[in-house]
Amino acid sequence: MYQLPDEKGYFGEFGGRFVPENLEGVLEEVKQAFEKYKDDPEFIKELEYYNKYYVGRPSPLYYAEKLSNRLGGAKIYFKREDLNHTGSHKINNTIGQVLLAKRLGKKRVIAETGAGQHGVATATACALFDIECIIFMGEEDTRRQALNVFRMELLGAKVVPVTSGTRTLKDAVDVALGDLIENYQTTYYMLGSAVGPDPYPAMVKHFQSVIGREAKEQIKDFEGKLPDYIVACVGGGSNAIGLFAPFYEDKDVKIIGVEPAGKGLETGMHAATLSLGSPGVIHGFKCYVLQDEKGEPLPVHSVSAGLDYPGVGPEHSFYKDSGRAEYVSVTDQEALDAFSELSRIEGIIPALESAHAVAHAMQMAKQLPKDQMILVNLSGRGDKDVNQVAEMMEK
Ligand SMILES: *Cc1c(COP(=O)(O)O)cnc(C)c1O
Repeated sequence: MYQLPDEKGYFGEFGGRFVPENLEGVLEEVKQAFEKYKDDPEFIKELEYYNKYYVGRPSPLYYAEKLSNRLGGAKIYFKREDLNHTGSHKINNTIGQVLLAKRLGKKRVIAETGAGQHGVATATACALFDIECIIFMGEEDTRRQALNVFRMELLGAKVVPVTSGTRTLKDAVDVALGDLIENYQTTYYMLGSAVGPDPYPAMVKHFQSVIGREAKEQIKDFEGKLPDYIVACVGGGSNAIGLFAPFYEDKDVKIIGVEPAGKGLETGMHAATLSLGSPGVIHGFKCYVLQDEKGEPLPVHSVSAGLDYPGVGPEHSFYKDSGRAEYVSVTDQEALDAFSELSRIEGIIPALESAHAVAHAMQMAKQLPKDQMILVNLSGRGDKDVNQVAEMMEK
């Protein structure tokens, strides 16, 4: 089993619920439903059905033999979340939450999205279950990610461009929360990462932990033992906590989260929250935050839009302080190099987010002996990123 938060949703000093009073009741309703259904045999059966026949689980564990031989050190294994329907781990969470929304009798689902990956996974789940779907997206992001806007619309969702503030993810979250306060009786808020007020971090972890549970069985089949290292990229932290949590009590397994160092930690243009942030409150929960002296979130940068967030999941904040996990960072350039190398050597084009984890694992593998094993979460595929990378290569 893995670490659970206390009854108020705290992992150590992180997490909790810092929201206006009118949201308390709404979140409590979601929490009660989650607690009730997560162990309900009918719910589990339905979730397993869709995971297997719709998402395509279990995702394979793949031994990257060529890459490992080339690097000359530790063996690298990939957990292939890139092979899931819609192309990343995000669908694990949206299928779980939509089943919950249905049981709550909600007729309408809302979600925020930055690059659009969570929006697409949400729109997909809502299409499957015939639920009205509204996606809030910063106007700036709707322009940068026009193709994902069209995908969501094809799937029957309504995409609402948000024109307040900097017209990006943070503003989309604010507008989504406003909509929830107004329409909570009919509406379910589908959060996309292991962040936000209680119960979201614990709930998203629950639905994503299928990654780590499968990986643990699969690596035993290959090697007859657990890996020495598990590695994942950290934006809000959902693919990482999904892999890490089932290994929490296996103290011989070293846990490493990889943050985006952007143009370099010293440039200020990064999103390395755990490496350089300090404890604070953002979007209704306590965690490490990249913030100014007044507690306002700082602008963040990463080549991969999915890692571009000034906060981070409370459970990662706790893992850092307790020393259970180590958090490192990888620059845009190192991630881009890994993106190209993995494509060429293994024929796998990774998402730019996942390329951060790959880059760090490759550096580690070179320095470790051949009898060591590194298991990397390949959180998504890079088809969505090839246009952006092509443009950058031209420059
Ligand atoms: C969204 C996304 C991430 C970052 O989100 P986490 O919640 O940190 O997992 C990582 N990889 C891919 C492929 C994504 O789409």
